[in-house]
Amino acid sequence: MASSTSIHVAVIGAGIVGASAAHFLAAAGARVTLLDASGPAAGATGASDGAVSVASKRPGPMMDLARHARAFYARCEREGLFRGLFHRRSTFLVARTAVEADLVAQHGADLARAGERVFEVDRATLLERVPGLGASVCAALEIPDDGHALGYEITERLLRGTSVDIRRSAPASEIVTQAGRVAGVAVRDDLLAADAVLVAAGIGSAPLLGLGDILIPRKGQMVVTDRAGSAGPAIDGHLMAASYLAAKRGIVRDNGHIGLVIDPLMTGQFLIGGSREDHRSDHTTDASTIAAILREALDLYPPLAQRRVLRSFAGVRTASRDGLPIVGPHPRHDGLVVATGFEGDGICLGPLMGASAARLLLGQSPDVDLSALAPERFLRAEVHA
Ligand SMILES: Cc1cc2nc3c(=O)[nH]c(=O)nc-3n(C[C@H](O)[C@H](O)[C@H](O)COP(=O)(O)OP(=O)(O)OC[C@H]3O[C@@H](n4cnc5c(N)ncnc54)[C@H](O)[C@@H]3O)c2cc1C
Repeated sequence: MASSTSIHVAVIGAGIVGASAAHFLAAAGARVTLLDASGPAAGATGASDGAVSVASKRPGPMMDLARHARAFYARCEREGLFRGLFHRRSTFLVARTAVEADLVAQHGADLARAGERVFEVDRATLLERVPGLGASVCAALEIPDDGHALGYEITERLLRGTSVDIRRSAPASEIVTQAGRVAGVAVRDDLLAADAVLVAAGIGSAPLLGLGDILIPRKGQMVVTDRAGSAGPAIDGHLMAASYLAAKRGIVRDNGHIGLVIDPLMTGQFLIGGSREDHRSDHTTDASTIAAILREALDLYPPLAQRRVLRSFAGVRTASRDGLPIVGPHPRHDGLVVATGFEGDGICLGPLMGASAARLLLGQSPDVDLSALAPERFLRAEVHA
């Protein structure tokens, strides 16, 4: 591997993951070309909520990695990189039926086992924290150490003031290899020669890696309201319904399922979502899905009836067949690293995963254990007779 001061890396995809990798590669002295078919944060990163949440993760590697990823946000905030963009706030996991209460309790136990602080909150206390909460809420847990950041703001901050050569409207069509080693990227009719390549192209990674059967687009529609006030978040935490957990834990797999979250933004607005629509990669919103999201949201938090809906939007998550991201070296091509499949967790995991991919591209070990995410699960190594 060339030294970090002479290596040229092509990063495909300027979402939060590619931007993070580009940032940390450039900081280590590498020459970096960042290619995007459109522009920075044009994909899921620019059309998402920003829960930097351990509370929402499946037990196992995702919960563990999210704890590292959230700590990475906190460190970047402390050291100045994410100053003013990452905000600590609680997540409230809320149940509206006895079955949901069991699920929330089980999830709370899993979080506590992973080392997370978890508090049971009775209805009276919750009403003080979230005045107006719906009558159907019968049980809740507070996870006080979560946070929030907007993906497009983080992406912009990661790229600002770096030496990264950002190429907009530059769709990669092929990874070019020679004798088992990466040689560059085909962009339209040109070859961009590179010593190493990172594929961090969200759902656009599928054709580049031959993962069309493995990576699934999962559309999510969301709603943005006007401001409830102008002095910061309107409620004292992020409301996450058990329906969201049920989807994350694989208990509910209905296409079109609404996994409800109500996120109070720093602006005083609410971000409310979202649908989970498999095999949908368009960005349209429709009245019946938006109505279903709002019905659920009004049941959980009736004061939303006072708000104006400013707009709705849709983003496309990239889900893998086994529900885990795909991060690590490509098993067949030296110099090629993959970081995709972050589904609804890439704002949380993205900065750390990008930094980890940068280390791999520089021939270093990542700071966290990525073995559960290894591309070998889906991309087989060459078999020699
Ligand atoms: C509705 C919704 C809500 C969400 N809420 C949260 C949340 O609360 N918390 C959380 O952690 N995550 C959330 N997510 C998930 C998160 O947004 C994604 O996991 C994350 O943004 C993925 O980042 P990425 O960099 O991997 O991909 P993307 O942001 O999709 O970026 C990929 C980039 O690659 C480019 N590209 C594609 N193909 C090519 C090509 N051939 N050549 C060059 N460029 C290419 C695209 O233009 C795009 O800019 C949500 C997602 C959605 C849709």
